[in-house]
Amino acid sequence: MGHAHEPGERLPLGGIKRVTNNYGTDSAPGHIEFRGLEYHANDEVHPASYVMAGSAQQGWKISRNGSEHLTLGPGYRLLRTHRCGVCSTDLDRRFLPFPLPQIIGHELIALDTDGKRHVVEINASHAARGLDDECPFCRSGLTTHCPERRVLGIHDLPGGFGPWVLAPENGTIPVPNALPDDVAVLVEPFAAALHAAEQVTPMPGETVAVLGPRRLGLLVVAALAARRRRDGNTYRILALSRRPGLRELALTFGADQAAPPPARVSDFSPMADIVIDTTGSPTGLELSIRLARREVHLKSTHGQPAAGLAHTTELVVDEITLGAWPDRETDTATLLAEAPCQAGDLPRVAWLVGDEPPPGLAERAELHVGRDAAALLSKLETTPGRLPRADIAVVEDAAGVDAALRPRAGEEIALVRPRGRICLYGRSGDDGPLLGAIRNRGLELSASRCGDFRRALTLLECDSELASRLPSLVTHRMPAGQLSQALDLARSPDCIKIVLDHPGS
Ligand SMILES: [Zn+2]
Ligand SMILES: [Zn+2]
Repeated sequence: MGHAHEPGERLPLGGIKRVTNNYGTDSAPGHIEFRGLEYHANDEVHPASYVMAGSAQQGWKISRNGSEHLTLGPGYRLLRTHRCGVCSTDLDRRFLPFPLPQIIGHELIALDTDGKRHVVEINASHAARGLDDECPFCRSGLTTHCPERRVLGIHDLPGGFGPWVLAPENGTIPVPNALPDDVAVLVEPFAAALHAAEQVTPMPGETVAVLGPRRLGLLVVAALAARRRRDGNTYRILALSRRPGLRELALTFGADQAAPPPARVSDFSPMADIVIDTTGSPTGLELSIRLARREVHLKSTHGQPAAGLAHTTELVVDEITLGAWPDRETDTATLLAEAPCQAGDLPRVAWLVGDEPPPGLAERAELHVGRDAAALLSKLETTPGRLPRADIAVVEDAAGVDAALRPRAGEEIALVRPRGRICLYGRSGDDGPLLGAIRNRGLELSASRCGDFRRALTLLECDSELASRLPSLVTHRMPAGQLSQALDLARSPDCIKIVLDHPGS
């Protein structure tokens, strides 16, 4: 293609052309040029030239290989990348519905002008940019679900495998001096792991199994153990891995027992009350369904259909719970009482089922009846005042679940609100192992994605056992210029976590 005329082309990879005005954080604009490695849809890595110009107050313009690439509003802060971890989402990035090529990488430590370290909340929502008032999702506390968010290193925003990032101002959190780099670089995935550990509700004496304890799964084991220490709970932690080395690590991270998952499971054969699936594979989910007595918590986004659903990744992205519509009146009352709407509002129920809603439901819920999820969504979008989504969607088959998750082709919008619930109605249907387990034995599938960085940092600061364990996850370290090799290595069984270092940062 010959880009020899471009200003950034002569720069070495990761090199900087020019920085002005204190990273653009004061009223005078900043300007920086660099070359970074982009990830492409064919799973290859190639360099590209970037220019970032602007300021936190006025917004930023990003150009790529000499052409306009992205215009960002205010609330972004320019930071220099210091370290960035490779995670499974990076390896599966081509399956996610966001434009490529992109500079990816979202588990980063970044430096400000004074060289102070920060971790970065990757969801650039209105709230994270300091613009909460503009958005009903951010106002409702659903900041990681803001429909207008960009996500650093995943959706639009250049990520931490490049030498510079534009980070949402309120999502840029200083790292306490006591935490070494090898702990700080794990704050993003640890926050996600802690969120999962705090979402499930094991009773005293129950067993929580973590299936596939590796990059993320070992952090989930550590988070379950830290939560148990903090809250004085008495649940048991079981790590299920085929690999002896990972079983051993899981025990040092706080599991009470580590075992290989059963080699052949054709039907329900419970090993735990709750199974947290961190495998990131469709077969892992199917195994979890068979091993879990009452709940599977899904904790990975592989972007592929699984367990009879097209949109399993979207369940995780939106943190939706999938369960049965209750048979008994008392259970219906509990379900409605626990609906995730604002206090004082009637729960908003989208009834997408052929049968009539049960008598009395219309008095206890804001009921919207129809067979077309897209039409119901349009109706809710034009109803002012509330979050334009249903709190609960009731469906009767796998197609209904998929329609409630993504009613409009090509749009990443659900009918049901983030952290809402989809209920499966009816006891008959031949629609795969997941829906079968929900119908026949009341299994629930919950899911979670990103966590709260400040909660994670607080726990890491006060639990020295936890903080001292985490660095053993970092098995490899490479310069950021070797991204392609790092992604290959991250796919090999010997590697748990690779951290890329930005030289000179
Ligand atoms: Zn990640
Ligand atoms: Zn928002």
